[in-house]
Parts: sequence; structure tokens; C-alpha cells
Amino acid sequence: MDGFLEGRLIDRNVIEHAHTYIQSGQVICIQGIENGRCMRCHNNDPRYLFTYHCAVCNGPCTYCRKCIQLGRISSCTTLLKWCGPQHPRTNDHTLELSGLSAAQQRASDELIESIRQKRSHLLHAVCGAGKTEILFQPVLYALQQQLRVCIATPRTDVVLELAPRLQRAFPKTFVQPLYGGAPVEHRFAPLIVATTHQLLRFEAAFDVMIVDEADAFPYTYDEMLQRAVNKAKTADAPVCFVTATPSKKLLATCKKERWGYSFLPRRYHGYSLPVPRISTVWRLHAKLQKNKLPNKLYDWLKLRKEKQQPFLLFLPTIELIECVLPLVQQVIPNVEAVHAKDEQRKEKVLQLREGQLQGLVTSTILERGITITNVQVAVVCADDAIFDAGALIQISGRVGRHVHYASGDVVFFSEAITIAMDEAIAEIKRLNAVMT
Ligand SMILES: [Zn+2]
Repeated sequence: MDGFLEGRLIDRNVIEHAHTYIQSGQVICIQGIENGRCMRCHNNDPRYLFTYHCAVCNGPCTYCRKCIQLGRISSCTTLLKWCGPQHPRTNDHTLELSGLSAAQQRASDELIESIRQKRSHLLHAVCGAGKTEILFQPVLYALQQQLRVCIATPRTDVVLELAPRLQRAFPKTFVQPLYGGAPVEHRFAPLIVATTHQLLRFEAAFDVMIVDEADAFPYTYDEMLQRAVNKAKTADAPVCFVTATPSKKLLATCKKERWGYSFLPRRYHGYSLPVPRISTVWRLHAKLQKNKLPNKLYDWLKLRKEKQQPFLLFLPTIELIECVLPLVQQVIPNVEAVHAKDEQRKEKVLQLREGQLQGLVTSTILERGITITNVQVAVVCADDAIFDAGALIQISGRVGRHVHYASGDVVFFSEAITIAMDEAIAEIKRLNAVMT
């Protein structure tokens, strides 16, 4: 348990020998709900505070529904907050890194300068710019300054992809991945890769906070997760936002508060982003629901089969995924489906990467954080409201990431052309036109 509790805010019941810590004065006890406020997620909205008859204290108790996903916090829960000495830091960290492009190196240097100045930063890099590699040197700089670093992302899939890469890059550093259901090693970690939800279990813990995929659902829509980022870091810790599709609000805040800003409009290999094309299909949605594969979609799949290209087929709902999967399998048998509730998701993505599967029919869950060499992409029912411009740009960004397969097909099958589709295509063309 060496240093494990430092910076953490944790339910007493999940910690062994909690009483020893309490007696030694290394932790203080806080009531889970105090004065109508959840002490873990700071929710004070009475609509999300629910009073019930508690069997433990045999009286009325209040629990928080906002952060229930991490286990129930109620007024009779005791939270332990670390107040003991700081775990000794080391500066014995090394980085194993292959070369960066000139643009990557410039962004990396700019980010180091922001960390040095304790200034927040926006790293605006197109899909395929190699943004993870850009973070390596700044993370090394921070670790060597004996600062504790957190890389937070809204998506579990991104944690699963990022953590092993970071551990390989920093062989001497203990990199701790945190997501719902992750096995947690109880020791001090100078570098943590966590879902934004998991940050609720920390308070004033991190000296540098990096929020990857800052625009991804549910982060942008959920105030609680934004509060979680602020609560988990120390008061003067800089935040670095990393995204391919910054919201107007994020760009405005960056400008107004004079953050550092790095912009990478080109992919690391220097080729342009693939521009999506639109293929309109009359009564697309109704045809799929009646288990009919439209001709244009059939032709697209047939071409993938002939060329033996891996592909991702994005759909807006699980219901449609279930309609479409058997239709696709009639054309190409070794295809599977994935969505948010699929526990086999990780394995199926791996099978696609290794060529055991030729394609995946998927929800937006795979819109980011996934790199498959030579993958081709179709968005089916691209006019559905779930596909906003950011999502469509991210999805298009899956294609052409490899230097030897720097182009590929991105097609939006839809009944109508939405503003989001127009915006996504215009933004990709704009980025391709920027001269560097
Ligand atoms: Zn709460």
C-alpha cells in the first residue's frame, strides 16, 4: 500500500486496515454527503440526492445518484482523504522514443514550455498527427521535475490503447491504468492513465493534467467530469487539452486565458486527410430495417472483399447494428459487431488488427483511438443526429494513417445531407489546404 492512498479520496470500506491509517493520522475521515453535497463528485443538485431508509444506520440516509457508477456514496459512507507525508519522488525516469517529425517536435517543445510556465495548453492535432508521441517528452520533463502526471480520457478504449504504449515508452516508470473494473495495484504511481470518471477518486493529486480526446462524449456534455478534472489536480496544475476537433468554446477559452497553443494540420507522414464522399440512398433506414441491403452498400462491401481490405462500418444504433450484421455477413462471412455494452470488444478489435476478421460493424464507440492499417470506412445513416461534425471527422480520421496506406475510402451513406456532414467535409478540406 506504499504511497497508494496519496491524492486519493476513497471509500473506507474498500481499503484494508483502514483503522491503522486513521489511527496513525495519515488520513482524515469525511462524511460521504455533507450539507447537501456529495464529497466525491461535488454534486449539490437535490434532484440527484436521494433519501432512503438505510439498513446500516437504521435511519434516513442520502445517497448521490450522480456518481453512483463508481459505487454508492451516502451520508453514512466514510471517505478517507490522504493527509500524510508525500511519497518520495524519484527523477529516475527514461524515455524510449523513436524520432519525431519537425512539426511533432515543435509541438512537443511548446508543451514543455507551457508545463514549465504552469500554463494550460491546447494541442490541436488532426487525426493521425501522432499526438501520443508528442506527449512523451513533456511527460518525461514533468516526471523528471518530480511532478505527478495524469493522462485522462473519457473513453475506456483509449485507456486500454494508451497505457501499454506509455509503459513501453517509460520502462522505469510505474504506469497505472484506471478504468471501471481494472485490476488496481496498490502502490504509488507517478504516471496514471485514467478515464475521466476515475478522477472522482482523487483530490489535489496531480501536478500536470493531460485531457486526451477532450471533445469526446461524455466529457463535453457532463459538467461532473469537468469538475472531476479540476478536483483531481492541484490548484495551480496546468491542464493540457489534446484533440483533433476542439469545440468553439475550448478554442475561445484557450485564446481568452492565453494558454499555450500548438496546431498540427498535417499527419505525421505528411499526406492529406482523406476527404469523405457522400452516397445518397433512398429509404436507407427503412430498407435496413426490412433486412434489405441497398445496392450501393452491397457494391461497397463487394469491393472490400475483392481487394481484401479491412473495414469499419459505423451505424447509429444497436438496433440497426443487429439488422445489418447478418446482411454484411452474407457478403463477407468473417465480420463481427461491436458496441459499448459488448464485453468482447477488445478481442474483436484485436482480431481485426490481426486479420482474423475482415471488418467490424460498430457504433460510434470505435470513432477514435483505433488504428488499423489500410482500413476503409463507411458511415451508414450518416444523417443520424448522433453523427455530429466532430464524430464524422474522427471517423474519417481512421483512414490512411499508415505511411504505406496513406489514403483510402471514407463514404457517408445517407438519405439526406446534414449540416454536420457538410461541416465535417469542409473542415477536412480546410485542414488539407493549410500550408505548413
Ligand atoms: Zn456524487
